[in-house]
Amino acid sequence: MLGLMMGKPLLISSILQHGAEVYGEQEIVSRSVEGDLHRYSYSKAHQRAKRLANVLKKFGIERGDRMATLAWNGYRHFEIYYGVSGFGAVCHTINPRLHPSQIAYILNHAEDKYLFVDLTFMPLIEAVHEHLEALQGVVVLTDRAHMPESKIPGLHCYEDLLEASSEQFHWPEFDENSASSLCYTSGTTGNPKGVLYSHRSTLLHSMAIALPQAMNLSEKSVVLPVVPMFHVNAWGIPYATPFTGTKLVNPGPKLDGNSLWDLMEAEGVTASAGVPTIWLDLLRAMREQGRAPEKLKFVVIGGSAVPKSMVKAFEQGFGVEVRQGWGMTETSPVGTINVIKDSHLDLSDDERHDVQIKQGRKLFGVDLKIVDDDDAPLPHDGRTQGELKIRGPWVCSSYFKQDNADEHSDRAWKDGWFSTGDVATIDAEGYMQITDRVKDMIKSGGEWISSIDLENAATGHPEVAMAAVIGVSHEKWDERPLLLIVAKEGTSPDMASVRDYLSAQVAKWWLPDDIILVESLPLGATGKILKNRLREEYKDHLMIKD
Ligand code: ADP
Repeated sequence: MLGLMMGKPLLISSILQHGAEVYGEQEIVSRSVEGDLHRYSYSKAHQRAKRLANVLKKFGIERGDRMATLAWNGYRHFEIYYGVSGFGAVCHTINPRLHPSQIAYILNHAEDKYLFVDLTFMPLIEAVHEHLEALQGVVVLTDRAHMPESKIPGLHCYEDLLEASSEQFHWPEFDENSASSLCYTSGTTGNPKGVLYSHRSTLLHSMAIALPQAMNLSEKSVVLPVVPMFHVNAWGIPYATPFTGTKLVNPGPKLDGNSLWDLMEAEGVTASAGVPTIWLDLLRAMREQGRAPEKLKFVVIGGSAVPKSMVKAFEQGFGVEVRQGWGMTETSPVGTINVIKDSHLDLSDDERHDVQIKQGRKLFGVDLKIVDDDDAPLPHDGRTQGELKIRGPWVCSSYFKQDNADEHSDRAWKDGWFSTGDVATIDAEGYMQITDRVKDMIKSGGEWISSIDLENAATGHPEVAMAAVIGVSHEKWDERPLLLIVAKEGTSPDMASVRDYLSAQVAKWWLPDDIILVESLPLGATGKILKNRLREEYKDHLMIKD
């Protein structure tokens, strides 16, 4: 028997509509590409999203058509999120840090009809626009005064288009399972793959991340997503702020520690979210200022493992709580968030930090399990490692325009679960901890060594800023760990001291066979260390030495 409740679909337009009606005066503050600090309200944003929807109508856009963006976190990008999806088209965010050839591949694969681009990224698009087959027009996200000279024919000016449009628009109702936005994985191997989110998945995910056990968003919160709107929807934050009445602060292109500190301080930011590398520089700025931005309560850190030294630096140095998050493009992205329990407050600082470096407990809505090589479930005892699988209403069920018949997909989706490619443990309290990517694990003499644990240990050394551990070929043991480190500014760590430091923390047979000091580590388009590139460069490092 079916329930007798209304079938009103969960649509993205309803989020901003609600924000405008209930929290109409709440602010969105954005550092713009042109340099100024722009501020307006949710009701103004809603009016402009409606104008944009009328622009799409004039362009002849139909439901399901893809509209691409290449833009920073800012108010115009926010309007596109709502104007495009609310209209029924698909907002396709593109990561400008990808290689231009990948950007061209993605635009063609998605058959984007229009591209909305920030001034910063004009050169990128000028380099590839001739190869874009489906593209009908490029809209520059600026006003008439800042329109660039360009060889791209028929450029549109965003502000002119909005100006010439009416703000009378009724958001259409349609199936909540309709596609709303599209994001491609970074594709460190092979071509990037498209993950196509729906209105329903986006709403459910944004409700889950807003909860107290996650980002705790409300009218009292001021949130600054450092995580970019150009990759996995800034972890869903732009969708979670309007319906919770949260003030949204967009950092635009200025992501260095000092600029973030200033903006957080000036706007009273209470929470922020970003990848670990971003926070290294914010921590430096905090040390320089002698304090954290005044209202900052917690930072959500994810995308790569959070080192214990970072949890400690935020908490003991500045009284800022670290909440680790884990997820993937394929999971919208958030699957788990680590918020400690009251009972953890009785632990020593060190023991509590050991809990905080886990990736956290699953959000309500998703299920997690770990399995062995034969896909058999493994116990949640905090010790047994296995491949992490996830399922839920915001986990993707196949890639865009790719049938599931290829080898990867066969492995990726099985019995309604998605294989993450991460290796993890889950403890009795439900805290999941990633120990490695399947492809980054180091197998030495038949035993596994966790590169994440080793990196975590190394970054605890007072003179180590960043660390990467890779497995490289070894005649006797098959593979042995190699540690690459970047020194903290103004220091020159001594390798023997790093080795001694590690010896106190990990088993002897885990100790890296060599430690190399490097100027920097190669980072991918989403801020993760490119281990495949390091493996390629150093693959024979130990062979040559032997
Ligand atoms: P890409 O952007 O490269 O396509 P994603 O952004 O989807 O990739 O990255 C997903 C992967 O990032 C996860 O499978 C996991 O390996 C890693 N990751 C994400 N968050 C964490 C975390 N908190 N700790 C460790 N690894 C993480």
